[in-house]
Amino acid sequence: MPDLFIDGRWRGALDGRTREIRCPADGSLVGVVDEGGGKDTAEAVAAARRAFDAGPWPHTDPRERGDLLLRVADLLARDKDALARAESLDTGKRLVESAYDVDDVVNCFRYFGRLAADDTGRVIDTGRADVDSRVMHEPAGVCALITPWNYPLLQAAWKVAPALAAGDTFVLKPSELTPHTAVRLVRLLEEAGLPPGVANLVLGAGPEAGAPLGEHPDVDLVSFTGGLETGRRLMAAAAGTVKKVALELGGKNPNIVFADAGLDAALDMALTAVFLHSGQVCSAGARLLVEDSLHDRFVDELVARAGRIRLGGPFDERAQAGPLISAAHRAKVEAYVARGLAEGAVLRCGGARPEGPDHDGGFYYPPTVLDECVSGMSVVREESFGPVLTVERFTSEEEAVRLANDTVYGLAGAVWTRDEGRAARVAARLRLGTVWINDYHPYVPQAEWGGCKQSGTGRELGPSGLAEYRETKHIWRNTAPAPQGWFD
Ligand code: NAD
Repeated sequence: MPDLFIDGRWRGALDGRTREIRCPADGSLVGVVDEGGGKDTAEAVAAARRAFDAGPWPHTDPRERGDLLLRVADLLARDKDALARAESLDTGKRLVESAYDVDDVVNCFRYFGRLAADDTGRVIDTGRADVDSRVMHEPAGVCALITPWNYPLLQAAWKVAPALAAGDTFVLKPSELTPHTAVRLVRLLEEAGLPPGVANLVLGAGPEAGAPLGEHPDVDLVSFTGGLETGRRLMAAAAGTVKKVALELGGKNPNIVFADAGLDAALDMALTAVFLHSGQVCSAGARLLVEDSLHDRFVDELVARAGRIRLGGPFDERAQAGPLISAAHRAKVEAYVARGLAEGAVLRCGGARPEGPDHDGGFYYPPTVLDECVSGMSVVREESFGPVLTVERFTSEEEAVRLANDTVYGLAGAVWTRDEGRAARVAARLRLGTVWINDYHPYVPQAEWGGCKQSGTGRELGPSGLAEYRETKHIWRNTAPAPQGWFD
């Protein structure tokens, strides 16, 4: 069955190209998918434009749109096992994590399904009897939804669900490395009864299938999650036609541990913060800032535990972390570690590919701790997006805040202390989209997700997540028009 979905029809790429998808855990062939290019993307945009300008979807009662999203949620729940398996094969991530992600995806569709039905706008009291004035929400138009490989289905859900709830039409362009769950999601949208042309799917590489979306005059909005450089490029491309742009970019997230923290939890969560999904998490706590008086004890224990983390493939039930996504990504992480060591960081564990039959053919890289880092080093400033923790020392609250904020990113981070006043002060001064106090990684849809500084332009999920996919319109109706007599 072909993999591109354009104007309600499944088809292959116009030039017949395909791509092999291999599991990062062992290199085994997962599937061969159609590989779209610029012409396929142009057809997908044209279909989405027609469906927006002339189709029923933007004018469908928001409650009906909400009902469709709730049906999709049920279908996703029905197919949970197959979706989780497909996600694990594409990403190499542990099956248990993929299953957890699918639950999140179901919740996301339910959340936006309910939110769509609440969309009533508001009436403005002008104090005049002859005027009816109201602010309405309308769909933004044709959306380009471009997603990364680390949480493929979840990232697609975070964009597709609010776009559909708002009444938009879209072209989804998932990462070329992990396309299978996007194909499954679009099949479920079709099964749920979405009209043709509303959802369009183009697989393919970023520069060929994705880049045209940024420039295309018929695209009204670009919603992108991925790396900082790609985000910059898309924002520049979108400037030509002044598109709405929603960017969710990377992070270099500080995890600040004061000496008075509850150490059992702080230590355990410092490991989870950075090594979950082998560090391929935008909010990974990749910078440990630890109070000088606690440093040696904390880091010794952390290194001992990091060294025991067991790497393995998606179906290895004893594995605690999986491989990196690709050979190229592992090479990037290796280069980053080498640069850090050249700059003076001290290797405390990891730093070399694991050997042995369990890891043959996979892109494994071990949990790695680089100690004695300082904020000028590239390892501290740049995102590795791998299982690499840098450790910096601080001696005062003031210094902890200064170091934590000394980055172009502003996505997320944590502060660990038993002193409530200090926790509140530090949280208030961190320039981050999310601050966890004595915790790491939890998110709730209602709280929204997004970063400040160069981590992004806005918020996803939550009520304002829907707002990104809508335009706001004020309608003023004079119910008793009469001459004004200004120029009599
Ligand atoms: P990436 O920027 O390389 O690719 C992301 C998507 O953009 C892919 O679909 C890719 O094909 C496409 N793309 C690449 N070049 C393009 C171009 N010129 N024009 C249009 N599209 C293009 O990122 P990645 O390596 O897939 O993902 C890792 C990055 O994503 C990390 O930096 C991570 O921090 C970030 N991320 C951020 C969040 C968040 O919520 N802030 C969440 C997940 C991942």
